[in-house]
Amino acid sequence: MTTTLGTASASPGEIETGRLEVGETRDGSPFGLPVAVVNGADSGKTLYMQAASDGDELNGVGVIQRVVPRLDPAEISGTILIVGIVNYHAFQVAEHRNPIDDTKMNRAYPGNEGGTSTERIAAATFDAATRADLILDLHQGSTSRMLDEVRVRCGKRHRHHDQCLELAKAFGCGYVLDQKGPDGQLARAAPDDGIPTVDPELGGAVGWDEESIRKGVEGVFNVLRYYNFLEGAQPLETQTRARGFEQYGAPAGGLVTLRKELGDRVRPGETLFEVTTPFGEPKAEVTADNDGIFWRARRLPQVATGEYICSVGTDIGEY
Ligand SMILES: [Zn+2]
Repeated sequence: MTTTLGTASASPGEIETGRLEVGETRDGSPFGLPVAVVNGADSGKTLYMQAASDGDELNGVGVIQRVVPRLDPAEISGTILIVGIVNYHAFQVAEHRNPIDDTKMNRAYPGNEGGTSTERIAAATFDAATRADLILDLHQGSTSRMLDEVRVRCGKRHRHHDQCLELAKAFGCGYVLDQKGPDGQLARAAPDDGIPTVDPELGGAVGWDEESIRKGVEGVFNVLRYYNFLEGAQPLETQTRARGFEQYGAPAGGLVTLRKELGDRVRPGETLFEVTTPFGEPKAEVTADNDGIFWRARRLPQVATGEYICSVGTDIGEY
């Protein structure tokens, strides 16, 4: 059976690319999101994946750019639907939010086809995503520095929590944040429609980080093997799972020096960072409240009072 997404139509054993039209730009020309359909020679599940829902998160675009040329439809059982760049307008200007309406895409799901620019794109991609049995929404910690991890966002009490967690484990990547996300995330909205969804967070970079992209490519192939799109056993590996996430801000303005590296174990009372004047005079020292793992940190050293510095994953376990 032919499978179609936007202008891309692929028969079994074929791969096609095209555009998913979602409206017009300011000059009145139609625009579409780049899409690919990989229709496996044999039947099986359907996987949906997308990248650049946040327009400055480019590692996912790098993953798809490398994964697709390696896919041979003759060897695939099932279908893969891909939207290569979701946040079209934000991607054009390398910004996080859609500049047309200054909105974050990953707060707009399931979207509204007659709504704002962001809501329309969310609705079009949600329609495509909910045709699938599994969803990978490729993100990263924006331009901050962050561990490579996978997020389960539906919340522990959700009826599909276990399947989301299984998908996260299949993806691998070493770390999982299992914490209910804010309203409007694809990884929250799609499980409500019965579809296991995870949000791999592939590091944090300005541009492309090759190591994070490599882990993302590996994660996608892990999922393809685990769910039998591709042949080959895919054993589940142990991951470090955090169930809480604590953010730390600057108690004073100045220059920040971090005292932990990403992935470091953090104990209560240990110093996370110090703030000094431009002349190195100490102003503040901030220590960890709880046990955890140093998970994410700002990139620039200068901070104003209250500005974000770092995050610690808490309630840690090995699974
Ligand atoms: Zn994101």
